[in-house]
Amino acid sequence: MAPGFLDFVRTWEGESVVTAYDRPTGAWIFIAMHDTRLGPAAGGTRLTSYATPADGLVDAMRLAEGMTWKWAGVGMPFGGGKAVLAVPGEMSAGERAGLIDRYAARLVSLRGAFQTGVDLGTTPDDMVRIGSISGCAVGLVDGKPGDPGPYTAQGVFAGMRAALEHRFGDSDLSPRSVLIQGLGDVGFPLAGLLAEAGATLHLADVREAVVRRAQERFGGSAVRVDDMWDLSVDVYAPCAVGATLNPDTIPRLRCAIVAGSANNQLLTEADAERLHARGILYAPDYVINAGGAVAFGNIHLGERDQARLRARVERIGTSLREMFEEAAAADESPLHAARRRAHRFLDRAAPVRAKPRAAAASGGT
Ligand code: NAD
Repeated sequence: MAPGFLDFVRTWEGESVVTAYDRPTGAWIFIAMHDTRLGPAAGGTRLTSYATPADGLVDAMRLAEGMTWKWAGVGMPFGGGKAVLAVPGEMSAGERAGLIDRYAARLVSLRGAFQTGVDLGTTPDDMVRIGSISGCAVGLVDGKPGDPGPYTAQGVFAGMRAALEHRFGDSDLSPRSVLIQGLGDVGFPLAGLLAEAGATLHLADVREAVVRRAQERFGGSAVRVDDMWDLSVDVYAPCAVGATLNPDTIPRLRCAIVAGSANNQLLTEADAERLHARGILYAPDYVINAGGAVAFGNIHLGERDQARLRARVERIGTSLREMFEEAAAADESPLHAARRRAHRFLDRAAPVRAKPRAAAASGGT
């Protein structure tokens, strides 16, 4: 048994986990639903191998809880959920397709209680298949995969402006410098928004070609990833990998604000205190990076109007502004204010029950 497994399971405060063994592939299916007071559980489906099935179960439970805070943090009518397909190893294309189909059939049996989208190891094509079978795939627009990156970038941009306003009393980006780490689906469009707003850009990515492409489009200077910690900037925007805020990097940071899209930016929650002690304003990652989830969650609920979708994503800035103010009043990291706010939102919620959706109406996280 995985070390700490029983301790974790005993302390998990979630509602339920649906478990199935997929005999043809030897995979375990775990669908964890953490808190559905706001609406049906929604979160990605992860398909990967683990040392033991118990590790996959713990991953599903842990990630489902994270989704509870994410949805509540941005006021969306979904509950925390996550699915893990813990596969024993490499599978043929046929085996994998069979597993996806049988997993989709499980979702049908849950009658809309779990809605899902792409995560590690699953693809937009998987979601099209899952959506067509179950009607439970988020991340699709009229049955086709959508791209959350630009919405996520818009949410980060809105959150960054809220942070600048809080810290400097002005959200104008033209006198500000921003270091973007990672120029992928989020970092690249974010660079575009920042360039348009007149910010000075510093661009870091492990792929040199992508840095050159961003420079050609948006200007800015290239920075080596190893050197970027010592760069003096107003904002550090981590948009690549997790755990970049840790006891080694935080003392080196020379920025006023951390505002980026990467998931799990803090190595541990203690790193939020380290940032606070250094006077660096931290925009909690799961709130500032929720733009794609907000947009596709709303699309899933039937919204198609681009202006209204963008306005909904823009509200991430308003939520963060309120969190920063609450945190400043209590002289604490915004991480705590974000969690309290989510709790308040959950406690006020009247329970909402899922309704099964028609496959054709499936929208898209
Ligand atoms: P991506 O894979 O499209 O891009 C990541 C970029 O980071 C790539 O260009 C890669 O070369 C670069 N990179 C990898 N390691 C690096 C490092 N150590 N230093 C600098 N650059 C590095 O990913 P994405 O979709 O843009 O997502 C970026 C981050 O935001 C991820 O942590 C992701 O989980 C998170 N996120 C993304 C979305 C979304 O809508 N795509 C939503 C929420 C959160």
